[in-house]
Amino acid sequence: MDIPQKPLDALVVSPHPDDAELGMGGTILRLIRQGWHVGILDLTSGEPTPLGSVETRTRETAEANARIGEPWRANLGLPNRSLEPTLEHRRALAGAFRRLRPRLLFAPFWEDAHPDHTAATRLVEDARFWGKLSKSDIPGEPFHPSRILYYFSVHLKIVERPSFVVDVSDQHEAKLDALRCYRSQLVDNQPEGRPGVIDAVADRARFWGHLAGVRFAEPFASREPIGLAGLGDLLP
Ligand SMILES: [Zn+2]
Repeated sequence: MDIPQKPLDALVVSPHPDDAELGMGGTILRLIRQGWHVGILDLTSGEPTPLGSVETRTRETAEANARIGEPWRANLGLPNRSLEPTLEHRRALAGAFRRLRPRLLFAPFWEDAHPDHTAATRLVEDARFWGKLSKSDIPGEPFHPSRILYYFSVHLKIVERPSFVVDVSDQHEAKLDALRCYRSQLVDNQPEGRPGVIDAVADRARFWGHLAGVRFAEPFASREPIGLAGLGDLLP
């Protein structure tokens, strides 16, 4: 893994290479534009899939990454379709947290029909805890990301229950462009005559934006109360 020069402000842990963009592509771009040092750690290659290959996914991921502001990005190489929150995988992810030292972690929402996604959620939470342990054989200095927030890239047909939403009105089109880069996953395999995944993402962004008084927004959840330093950023 190619480690960035300085610690990350935020790290998005993505079970498959398109989940980060699906759930929070607009927020990633917004944070980067605000000067944050943001990274994405894909846990698996996402392959096999019906229309994909490792080479195709790698190319699509690089193209999508460019459209959301070129966050630092790497792939941990864990097994797709059989991702499990094992001690071995927890150790690998805890080691990555120690090297990347993100202040803020983003994990997939904790309820999902895709077993890789719920395994990823568990892995992020467990690896965050392990990362702070002293007297362990995990490489690197103990480190504990101060907070986990959860983004929505879920295979359940549910309405999200967010703790807050982020205004991504100015990033919405770039996010959709990024999603279209994943042709093998989100474009070429979509049903004819009814909305596809990208349509659903756009509709939900408009829905959450409407509730927040802006054009487009992305929802996030937190298991813990969120402390605010001020109220100046509250939207109408
Ligand atoms: Zn996924």
